[in-house]
Amino acid sequence: MAKILVTGGAGYIGSHVVKLLGEKGYDILTYDNLSTGHEWAVLYGKLIKADLADKETLRKVFKEFKPDAVMHFAASIVVPESVRDPLKYYRNNVVNTLNLLEVMEEVGVKNFIFSSSAAVYGVPEKIPIPETEPLNPINPYGETKATVERILRNLTNSGNGFKYVSLRYFNVAGADPEGKIGFAYPEPTHLIIRALKTAKGEFEKLEIYGTDYPTPDGTCVRDYIHVMDIAEAHLIALEYLLDGGESEVLNCGYGRGFSVREVIETVKKVTGINFKVVEAPRRPGDPAVLIADNSKIKKKFSWKPKYDNLEFIIKTAWNWECIKNRDNL
Ligand code: UDP
Repeated sequence: MAKILVTGGAGYIGSHVVKLLGEKGYDILTYDNLSTGHEWAVLYGKLIKADLADKETLRKVFKEFKPDAVMHFAASIVVPESVRDPLKYYRNNVVNTLNLLEVMEEVGVKNFIFSSSAAVYGVPEKIPIPETEPLNPINPYGETKATVERILRNLTNSGNGFKYVSLRYFNVAGADPEGKIGFAYPEPTHLIIRALKTAKGEFEKLEIYGTDYPTPDGTCVRDYIHVMDIAEAHLIALEYLLDGGESEVLNCGYGRGFSVREVIETVKKVTGINFKVVEAPRRPGDPAVLIADNSKIKKKFSWKPKYDNLEFIIKTAWNWECIKNRDNL
């Protein structure tokens, strides 16, 4: 079975991919500095606690493990923080990715799967958004992801055999349906998690950031996708590259959206708890609508999402929140 090096495998999306790879029998090595990830989240393979800034360790790990492919999840991901501290984002997301790519080149590893984001589109002209929309990010986080995508394209065009699949995630949510892993970030900013924590009483109220958007109910619309369907897309991308597929950039979303108000109503329904919700000003940098055109990934990868159901997404996230609390994770 192929050997896969997973950076950020102890984090939210990375750990779900590690679980799926492990179940399929892949030989996995997670490389993670555990700055936001957790040792308990790595259910398969070995975990090396190290930083991508530490090129010496990275080189050593590559030489010993000899991976066939790299999946790169390790990154800083909080948009408002990226606005306050752009240098942190360029260092973690761009410079550290360069370290990784340089070591891959040194040791001759050619296959790369990259965690990109719908944030590369900024405020798109077309909805649903096709991959052909220009890269026009409106925050430093999106800039770093777009920068890495450009580097990857240049590297493929250099003719040294390097190949990648860049997956542009829309709003990843939910948790492992078996309840073993899930989102465990110290200060969550995401809507579904914040709503669940408000239901649990961890926050006194939930704020709706903006009610005057040009959408049916005035709140932002997003394409929420279950983390296990995202994980499945990674597995297909991996098999595609290992089978000799060419470099690709693909949206990962369901192609439909829900407003902030619809999400809140569904959280209330799933939890059975009626928590306090207040209207607040817009959050800077939020586009009104982000919905994926997913025809490319469906056609090219025959990707068949299993969990396109907002209630199910929220149920798995709620189940995980309760388990995390119970087990003090
Ligand atoms: N949002 C909100 N209240 C919150 C958190 C988020 O109204 O406490 C809104 C946010 O402004 C955006 C949507 O919910 O319109 C999704 O935000 P999230 O941070 O989950 O994901 P993003 O789309 O920013 O990646």
